[in-house]
Amino acid sequence: MQGVAVFGSTGSIGQSTLDLIGLHPERFRAEVLTAHRQVEPMLRDCERFKPRWVVMTDPDAAQTLQLRLREASWGGHINVLAGPQGLVTAAVVPEVDMMVAGIVGAAGLASVLAAARAGKKILLANKEALVMAGPLMVQAARLGGATVIPVDSEHNAIFQCLGENYRCFQPPAGVRRLLLTASGGPFRSWEKARMFSASVSEAIAHPNWSMGRKISVDSATMMNKGLELIEAHWLFSLPESAIEVVVHPQSVVHSMVEFDDGSTLAQLGSPDMRTPIACAMSWPSRIHAPVKALDWQSAQRLDFEPPDTERFPSLALARASLRTGGAAPAVLNAANEIAVEAFLNERIRFGEIFGAVEGTLAQLSHQAANTPASVDELLEIDRQARDIAQARVAKIAG
Ligand code: NAD
Ligand code: MG
Repeated sequence: MQGVAVFGSTGSIGQSTLDLIGLHPERFRAEVLTAHRQVEPMLRDCERFKPRWVVMTDPDAAQTLQLRLREASWGGHINVLAGPQGLVTAAVVPEVDMMVAGIVGAAGLASVLAAARAGKKILLANKEALVMAGPLMVQAARLGGATVIPVDSEHNAIFQCLGENYRCFQPPAGVRRLLLTASGGPFRSWEKARMFSASVSEAIAHPNWSMGRKISVDSATMMNKGLELIEAHWLFSLPESAIEVVVHPQSVVHSMVEFDDGSTLAQLGSPDMRTPIACAMSWPSRIHAPVKALDWQSAQRLDFEPPDTERFPSLALARASLRTGGAAPAVLNAANEIAVEAFLNERIRFGEIFGAVEGTLAQLSHQAANTPASVDELLEIDRQARDIAQARVAKIAG
């Protein structure tokens, strides 16, 4: 029996994870659930899974949940922690063998680092943590003896192609390059001008995947693939030049590895995150996941095309930030989080996201080139980048 901490349990990744835990009660037990402020969904999951620990990062939500649990006949044994510090505490409790890192954005970083230092098995969905703090994460996992297994579908696909003996953060033997597939998002074939003023509902309507709002906008800008490029760079310890992006609108091939001898291995499946999560939970063995099988009896097409770097400048921005190194990826991530939030709140237009991110990177290029020696230094540059991005957003919004 493995104790699982589901970080971001009310989100898309979190709910998929709980689905799998519910299907395999003999193998997994949800010991920790965390959310930002959604009390009702959290109560529902507490009643079903009876975790030992629950974290609500919003203090008012924590208080409300605490009261509601006391009123419930079944809620007496559940401990409620509040605030960001609660996440760090819950990441290292002894009942937890594996953490599913499903918080969105920089808010997930501290708990992932804590789990790494404590030597937990980390099933990583929260790509922003690795983008921000790649070197610190690698170091923490090494020192703590933590195992990281990628959940992001592309990275999980690559991980599967690399075989059972592969461990993340090591350069894989005999690999020529990685091919990250991208759906191209909802605007793959839109004219630039139409894309510029696309609405929030158009941007979050992903053609193949059902995901949270932030990553859905990232897919529409293709910044998601930019972040994934950086994620792949750290996870697989390969230079940016050995990682390529291929647009594949059907989202059936989840990514590929090209080896030195010319072989290319791919992992295929329906676009359903329960496959990579199940794979990561049971690796290297396999468990059942209730995912629709691919249908090979009806006619199928798998298309591939190069990304349009003119309409989607995010990939170039991500590559440039990796070449700059230091804190540049953290600045890119912070500026993107601010710009996407401003778009979701309808303060700026879709096409203005790129400028806000690029401008922030340019303005901080000098400071960003330095490598943060500590989490505090990293958080300081993250804060500066957020301030600058906010100012840019305010200017754009007029
Ligand atoms: P989501 O918005 O559906 O869920 C986010 C979760 O994080 C929620 O439980 C929310 O309560 C919590 N949260 C939000 N802000 C928080 C804060 N400030 N402090 C603490 N907790 C907070 O997001 P998602 O789509 O599940 O994505 C989660 C992560 O997984 C992201 O990093 C995303 O890039 C990555 N990911 C998601 C998918 C997918 O299919 N959804 C695929 C690959 C990778
Ligand atoms: Mg992905």
